[in-house]
Amino acid sequence: MLKCAICGREFDGVPDDAVRLTHTAARTNVYRFSDGAIHSLRKIRSPKSESVLPPLESPREATELLQSVVEVLTELPQSQSEPIKREATEPEIEPMTTMAAAFRNFKS
Ligand SMILES: [Zn+2]
Repeated sequence: MLKCAICGREFDGVPDDAVRLTHTAARTNVYRFSDGAIHSLRKIRSPKSESVLPPLESPREATELLQSVVEVLTELPQSQSEPIKREATEPEIEPMTTMAAAFRNFKS
């Protein structure tokens, strides 16, 4: 299987009428198809084997997947009761004047 690094299209193979423009040792080679389109084709395995995904795309897809998981987790009902509980246990901040006065009395 081949995947284009430019447009992301996947091909079963290089068409017979496609012209190969690069002759490098790299696995990615540029072809001009019969319709004039330029495709930079890289050999990939079938989508079933996840270990050989193109390295340019997998980190972004993983990030998007992680973000969607986080969004689901934050929408769980458990997270809604937490702020109420925390509000009740949070100690009230004493006015600074009280502490300042106590400190003043202690010194003098
Ligand atoms: Zn392409």
